[in-house]
Amino acid sequence: MIPTQFDYVRADSVKQAIELLQDSNGEAKIIAGGHSLLPIMKFRITEPGKLVDISRIAELKGVKIEDDRVIVGAMTTHYEVANDPIVKQNIPVLAEAASQIGDIQIRNRGTIGGNIAHGDPVADLPAPALALDAELIIEGEDGMEAMSVDGFTLGPLITLLPENSIVTAVSFEIPPSHAKSTYLKFFHHATGYPVVGVAAVTGVNEDGVIDYARVGITGVGEVSYRARAVEEALVGQKVSEEVIQAASELATTDGEMGSDLFASEQYRENLSKVYTARALKSVLL
Ligand SMILES: Cc1cc2nc3c(=O)[nH]c(=O)nc-3n(C[C@H](O)[C@H](O)[C@H](O)COP(=O)(O)OP(=O)(O)OC[C@H]3O[C@@H](n4cnc5c(N)ncnc54)[C@H](O)[C@@H]3O)c2cc1C
Repeated sequence: MIPTQFDYVRADSVKQAIELLQDSNGEAKIIAGGHSLLPIMKFRITEPGKLVDISRIAELKGVKIEDDRVIVGAMTTHYEVANDPIVKQNIPVLAEAASQIGDIQIRNRGTIGGNIAHGDPVADLPAPALALDAELIIEGEDGMEAMSVDGFTLGPLITLLPENSIVTAVSFEIPPSHAKSTYLKFFHHATGYPVVGVAAVTGVNEDGVIDYARVGITGVGEVSYRARAVEEALVGQKVSEEVIQAASELATTDGEMGSDLFASEQYRENLSKVYTARALKSVLL
């Protein structure tokens, strides 16, 4: 399929991009890497009259530390995220997840802003973003605001992104220095997208007691979610295989499983528990 006809304009600044969105009366869409938008335009799931290209806006690229958080510009590609020294040192679970997205061409074009703003239930990055208490920095006609990634996506391709606004960066909490992390993904063999993706960040104190736990799960239902029941079952417990197993049984408590031709609800439920247990074992044992 080919998309319906559309105009194309390249923005030189965030301010100009917002003005172009405002001028289009809801007809325009932002294009970043285009790796999620163009496929759905070809299927005519969306038919924007205009594309506003933000890919050359320098202020949207790069990684920095501000206070206790890592700030990643929205136009930073998956390849750049996976290889950035600040990301690898402070929030390695994000680099690990970004390095598992699609193939090298996808990672060279796809962006962190697009991956989260798209609201795709099977995107990888919402899992580490949830486990790192991420916030989206959003700029729009009413100025700048920060919005938690937790709750940002309401359903497939439905988000709380206000009209005529742009995600300019994603801000991640740096976990305590003793924390360890991992991202484990069971991928769909035809597409590479996660059937389940589990990001786990945990810390154990000197007495062998778990004092920090964050778990984000993606791919299994209509929205990615933070597995708070798992986290609560871990914190305060001495590390043991039994504790991990019992906590992992709660992996689906905070999320709703989906069902499709590839994987039934029961299969996804089982995968969520199994991958949560594997992720937790790798960081705790
Ligand atoms: C073959 C293939 C395999 C893939 N495999 C995976 C995979 O394994 N895991 C995975 O997570 N993803 C995968 N992807 C998706 C890829 O990672 C996308 O690049 C990413 O999800 C979207 O980023 P983008 O920059 O391409 O966004 P675009 O496609 O340009 O935009 C996507 C949507 O987000 C909006 N948007 C983009 N940037 C912003 C912004 N800064 N502010 C506001 N709105 C914005 C756009 O308007 C659009 O609605 C795959 C894609 C393909 C084509």
